[in-house]
Parts: sequence; C-alpha cells; structure tokens
Amino acid sequence: MSEETAGYRGLCNLCGAKGFFPAGGRSTRESFPCPSCRAALRWREQAAIILDEFARGQSVFLRHLVGSGKLNTVDIFEVALRGPFVTQMKGLPRYVRSYFWPDRPLGSVDEEGVRCEDLTQLTFPDESFDLVLSSDVMEHVHDIHTAFAEIARVLKPGGVHIFSIPNDWPFPDRSEPRVELIDGEEHHLKPPRYHVSGDGSPCIVTWDYGADIVDILAATGCSTQVVRRHSGIDPCYVNATFVARKRG
Ligand SMILES: [Zn+2]
Repeated sequence: MSEETAGYRGLCNLCGAKGFFPAGGRSTRESFPCPSCRAALRWREQAAIILDEFARGQSVFLRHLVGSGKLNTVDIFEVALRGPFVTQMKGLPRYVRSYFWPDRPLGSVDEEGVRCEDLTQLTFPDESFDLVLSSDVMEHVHDIHTAFAEIARVLKPGGVHIFSIPNDWPFPDRSEPRVELIDGEEHHLKPPRYHVSGDGSPCIVTWDYGADIVDILAATGCSTQVVRRHSGIDPCYVNATFVARKRG
C-alpha cells in the first residue's frame, strides 16, 4: 500500500458516514479525517467516549445519539466556539457553549448563544453539568490547576469532563509549563508554539501534558481515565482521550 492510499475503511462515529479515512495529517491525532464531516481522529475518539457514556449501547454515532433524544436531559457545557460537537449538539435543549473574549462581561451571551466564560472563573453554579467537553483547549490555559478545579466545581457528582489535549507518545511522566505569566507578561520557558484558536487568531500553547495530569485532576476531586483505543489500526492506537469523573 502506498503512502497516498494509507488509511482505513470505517464508520464516522460523529456523522455516521461510512467510507475511507486517509492517513496523512500534521499528526496521527489530526489525521484520518471523515470523508463526509472531515472530523479527524481525535474528535471521533472523543465522540466514542460520549457514546460509551450516554448511548446505553443504542447508538454508534453522535448524530444518531442526538436524534434519539437521550441527550435532551443531559446538562452539557462545551468550551468551544465551533467544531464537530457544536455542529451536532447545538440544538440540544440543555447544551451551552462558551468562548473567552477578554472585552466582554463574563457570563454574557451573544446573538449566537455563545457565553463568554473564563475557565479560571466560571459563572455557572456548583454542580451544573453532567458533561463538560473541551477539545484541545486545556493546553492554552495558564493556570491549569484553577481551571481544572473550576470544571470540577461545575460538574455534578459523577459527571464527566471528556477532553482532548495534545499527547505525545510515549507519554512523559510530568506536565511542564511552556510559558509563565509574570505581572501579565509571558516569559517563555520553551520556544513559543501557537495553535489557531476558534476565532482564527493565534493562541499560545501554555503547557505540555504528561501522565501526572491524573494527579492534577485527582486534586480537584476527579478520577481520570486516559483512554487509548486499542483498535490495532496503525498508528491510531497512540492517540489518547481524557475522561475526568467527579467523585461522589
Ligand atoms: Zn463524519
């Protein structure tokens, strides 16, 4: 098989399309896009866990789960302006999403229904959500300890934060900051690295995560699974998705 045709045939567990998922992206987790909705591997592996958690074995893709009505009584908070989960879930009655605009009041809601929220000082009451979703967001937060604690605060007991972050393979032992904020100034501890944020602007990567994320989350009252789908499809098995469940 040549490099151009590497990939696998399968089902998109976001949109339900069947087809060929080709290799060849910036990284394994950004590869294997759905031939229909274009969602890459990391999104679909995150979707797989939402299905495991809420589908009761009756859906194999998220669009079907949403259509089934089973999420209509689930309080969901997604930290996203756009993306495949927004596309599938934004019509759900108990779904809210947020983005951080420094110039808007925290908790305000714009005409598209997007709340302005700072992850280190969320405006939601304690124990508001069954499910929190973030997809490649937590590597852009400076004060991750406060942000994870805030997410834990707004989760109901037993609720889950299902999230993706860049994860190297092999996964290092320790999480390391890439940049420190001192008096509002960024001091770089590693060469600056940027991702594109939801509104298209560059956004600095603040942390490289390691296996001690399990301990960081334990300190917030969450038990964490780091899920690597053991599908055997080379090299998809190296992508990890994170599931932090609030104890209680
Ligand atoms: Zn798809």
